[in-house]
Amino acid sequence: CGIIGYIGNKKASEVLLRGLLRLEYRGYDSCGIGVVDNNELIIKKNVGKVEEVAKKERFLDVCGCVSIGHSRWATHGNVSTQNAHPHTDCKGEIAVVHNGIISNYKELKEELIKKGHKFKSETDTEVVPHLIEEELKKYKNPSEDDYINAVKNAIKKLNGTYALAIINKNFPNVLIGARNESPLMVGVGKDGYFLGSDISAFLEFTNKAIPLEDGDFVVIKKDDEFLLIIENNGKKIDRDVMEIEWSI
Ligand code: GLU
Repeated sequence: CGIIGYIGNKKASEVLLRGLLRLEYRGYDSCGIGVVDNNELIIKKNVGKVEEVAKKERFLDVCGCVSIGHSRWATHGNVSTQNAHPHTDCKGEIAVVHNGIISNYKELKEELIKKGHKFKSETDTEVVPHLIEEELKKYKNPSEDDYINAVKNAIKKLNGTYALAIINKNFPNVLIGARNESPLMVGVGKDGYFLGSDISAFLEFTNKAIPLEDGDFVVIKKDDEFLLIIENNGKKIDRDVMEIEWSI
């Protein structure tokens, strides 16, 4: 029900935890985080309140700066640790958090199962990492651009509503976001970028935000500097940055 993403110089698990606590008002039954640290993908998730889960699963033990987090309001699949987000592909390399409902997930899941994919949850969301994994198989040695294209092509197959945040342990300098009929914003920080279902997810760290529109596809890369690219329908777009006057 609430998503957050962060790529920057701060310790991600701390940023995610602060954000998830701020998103609590949206309602949720379980929560989790995914962080890439030293080319490892670390997932921590469970059922319960953010504070309890964070303690039990030791969120703050996780280092790394490329990350996603989620507080879930179950729509497909009961409330369980397996169904909590982030969801991953077969190899546990790609992690996805999602707010919304993928309406064609049954067809997609059937096709993926035929292709040999094994599913670990009952959610609609889990088709997304598997679709990306499948798209990536088209490349022998995918470059960062190939990976970004693979995600784009996977998202084209989705019907329904979504705000998505995606990381991949093999591309540890990239955070991807996408939006269709579920709220999503980019937060522009001094030393990093955020994604959030709403501004409260990152207002503690920055008051500069870019509200996204339906069809927006966002890539945030960490090179020498951080780089934000927003596309809609394959075309690069400049969206206005708004400054929020109030703070928390
Ligand atoms: N449909 C997804 C699920 O049931 C996402 C729910 C949400 O937006 O929290 O896991």
